[in-house]
Amino acid sequence: MRLLPWFRENRRDLPWRRNRTPYRVWVAEIMLQQTRVDSVIPYYRRWIKTFPSWKALARAPQSDVLKCWEGLGYYSRARNLHAAAKSICDAFHGRAPDTAAELRSMPGVGPYTAAAIASLAFNEDAAVVDGNVIRVLSRLFAFGGDTKSAAGKKKMQAWADELLVKGLAGEFNEAMMELGALVCLPKNPKCGECPLQNVCAALAKGSPAKFPVMEKKAKVPHITVGAAVTMNRKGEVLIAQRKQDDMLGGLWEFPGGKQEPGETIEECIVRELDEELGIKTIVGEHVMTVNHAYSHFTMTMHVHRAQIVLGRPRPIHCADYAWVKVPNLGKYAYSKADLQVVAQLQSRSAGLKKRKKG
Ligand code: SF4
Repeated sequence: MRLLPWFRENRRDLPWRRNRTPYRVWVAEIMLQQTRVDSVIPYYRRWIKTFPSWKALARAPQSDVLKCWEGLGYYSRARNLHAAAKSICDAFHGRAPDTAAELRSMPGVGPYTAAAIASLAFNEDAAVVDGNVIRVLSRLFAFGGDTKSAAGKKKMQAWADELLVKGLAGEFNEAMMELGALVCLPKNPKCGECPLQNVCAALAKGSPAKFPVMEKKAKVPHITVGAAVTMNRKGEVLIAQRKQDDMLGGLWEFPGGKQEPGETIEECIVRELDEELGIKTIVGEHVMTVNHAYSHFTMTMHVHRAQIVLGRPRPIHCADYAWVKVPNLGKYAYSKADLQVVAQLQSRSAGLKKRKKG
């Protein structure tokens, strides 16, 4: 097969391809789930610097782990990586399990990640089937079925197992993924540069971009959220920590929540702050509006100032709360949407300070 020589000539020099250890492979594979290589590179570098080993990661408080992951999305990946580090240090004496079967029992490790770690870190003959590989395989075999169905997935795995170069599994898997990332592109595959062009059924049919056959995507729901910047007399801002089991669990936010039918944003904020923290508030001026797209819904968040008129915050529907000076807000970890609010508050506060000095 011409794939491996092509890979040796064209492989990108990515940071996780240097000084390979099971820990580094694991971190990279988790970060690369549903995330582009370009976005992962700076996060990977910072992570390895901050937590150079399983031990360092296991010992770190969750707040530091989430702060280092802040902005990369899918935060359960960070929590699972942290849990895996603790388990490896406690139950495996600091050595990661080295077979795909054992790896699958670890937090956050599904069949794809287990095969990737087992092949790349331990050279086990396990074939990886990720989005890039599915695209390449469905074109090589001109597969007209649904690659997301159980039968389609089984077929993809069987083809990947069959093609796998035994004894060079890690290199083969990387080569397939690299081919999907650099040549067998979703819209305009560069078939003229492809080492597999002579054996590609989709190319022979003259319609490579038609594969894999895509199901029509369901419309993504949209939600509207109200959130509050609540200040006390000391000029501190109230932030709340999301519950561990919730989406974005462990991250901090400006308290608020989803607007109910028939509610104004102001009414939504008043109700949410009461339910979440047991405080009665009045809602003031609009601070900003943030639009954000998650994988399964989009969100518009309207942020207003609020003032407490009765009660003291209690963590009722949140894990914790804190009063924080604006310059110190950055010490906590937030989602991308709340990070925009932090940035806005900090730039306003810095602007005010400058004006006072001037
Ligand atoms: S020939 Fe074209 S469609 Fe076929 S695997 Fe190569 S890049 Fe993809």
